[in-house]
Amino acid sequence: MDDCIFCKIISGDIPSDIIYRDDEVIAFRDVNPVAPTHILIVPVEHLVTTLDIPDVNTSLTNKMIQTANRLANQEGISEDGYRLVINCGEQGGQVVKHLHMHLIGGRHLSSSLG
Ligand code: 5GP
Ligand code: ZN
Repeated sequence: MDDCIFCKIISGDIPSDIIYRDDEVIAFRDVNPVAPTHILIVPVEHLVTTLDIPDVNTSLTNKMIQTANRLANQEGISEDGYRLVINCGEQGGQVVKHLHMHLIGGRHLSSSLG
């Protein structure tokens, strides 16, 4: 997708602090972090929301969670706890229209989700 910021990060056209990548997912630090750890876990394929994950593809969701688990360990936040968030669509607060999971931690987060 030509006008997608995350596709441009994946292709290297826009620089970012990439901490993991393979054929299926890439993870980089959020440019505007809301906590000491704020990482975005993003499928390499341009999917807009979770609605675009094909029914047959359970491996992508597993891969995103497994990547989050590994990075949470790497960041040293596994024991204290952290938050995984996927915003979907306009009312879900999604700004970048390329599927991504936020991994947020390193401070005490509010229990409010609204
Ligand atoms: P959303 O609101 O769509 O769930 O979250 C989009 C996230 O992408 C935001 O937290 C925002 O700070 C982050 N973001 C937007 N543009 C860029 C960018 O160019 N580079 C990086 N690293 N993060 C970005
Ligand atoms: Zn994209």
